[in-house]
Amino acid sequence: MKSARRICVVGSANIDLTFRTPRFPQPGETLTGYSQHQGMGGKGANQAVAAARLGTDVTFIACVGNDAFGKAAIDAYEAEGIQTSVMRRAEDQPTGTAAILVDDHAENCIIVVAGANGRLNAEDVKAASSMIEQSDAVLCQLETPVVAAVEAFRLARTLDVLTVLTPAPAEHVTDQLLALCDVCVPNRLEISTLTGQPVETEADALRAAELLRERGVKRVALTMGGNGVFLLDDSGSAHISAIKVEAVDTTGAGDAFTAALTVSLVDGMTLTESARWASTVAAISVTRIGTQTAFPTLKEVNEWSP
Ligand code: ATP
Repeated sequence: MKSARRICVVGSANIDLTFRTPRFPQPGETLTGYSQHQGMGGKGANQAVAAARLGTDVTFIACVGNDAFGKAAIDAYEAEGIQTSVMRRAEDQPTGTAAILVDDHAENCIIVVAGANGRLNAEDVKAASSMIEQSDAVLCQLETPVVAAVEAFRLARTLDVLTVLTPAPAEHVTDQLLALCDVCVPNRLEISTLTGQPVETEADALRAAELLRERGVKRVALTMGGNGVFLLDDSGSAHISAIKVEAVDTTGAGDAFTAALTVSLVDGMTLTESARWASTVAAISVTRIGTQTAFPTLKEVNEWSP
């Protein structure tokens, strides 16, 4: 018997190292920065943390290195109440790391090394099959190998568990994965890469979403930043406006939105109801600095008014 609201997230776990610096260094130059901040990132971890803050039981299927960053990441997820027992420590790769330089003009330069994320494989997912069986939804993105996502969706389908995909990076999406996808949550750039259809107007959004559905996706939630979200499923199409807020940092808004959409869908809400609620969660996150630090708790969402 499944307990209510349990989600498996399959995906990337990174440590983000942010360096504030007056400007970017020239080749061969050593610059003195203002500060360094260590945070948690990776789209998989972002979605796992966002869903856990919304009061959902979350199991994270991921791979980190057998190093200090890997331990720090697991400790941080456990502090969020995330089930990490099926996470693997790779012996031959470091924990995924992003080095983020931010200058005085708030411009950034980022280097990401996938490290252990690249080691997540179908066997890791199979080893977690009992967790998937106890879940209401499986949530994947593609900063880890697509074979892991395909295995997770394949298992989920046989177990009647909802499959939700953030198709990012879009270049990693396969037809096999789309055919196993119940809900796909691309942004404009991702859906354009997937379908070849640029999205400027609502008619473009409809066309692009239809093209995704022709490839097997059942429901599409196309996020468009401050322009809201476009929905398409068997019941038709809808546009949900973004909530008007003073946005200070939109990083991770898509991950907050997708996690909240999934939480609401497994609660039995419709796609439209779920997208409305997820828009609130994402709107709160854009009013705060940072990625995971910006994701609200369920209590904060319930008490929030724009
Ligand atoms: P990221 O890659 O930074 O996680 P994304 O490109 O995947 O973001 P967006 O389409 O930018 O995702 O945003 C997702 C959702 O977040 C939007 O559909 C909207 O509901 C909300 N959102 C984003 N930007 C704003 C904003 N400026 N004001 C209010 N809501 C916003």
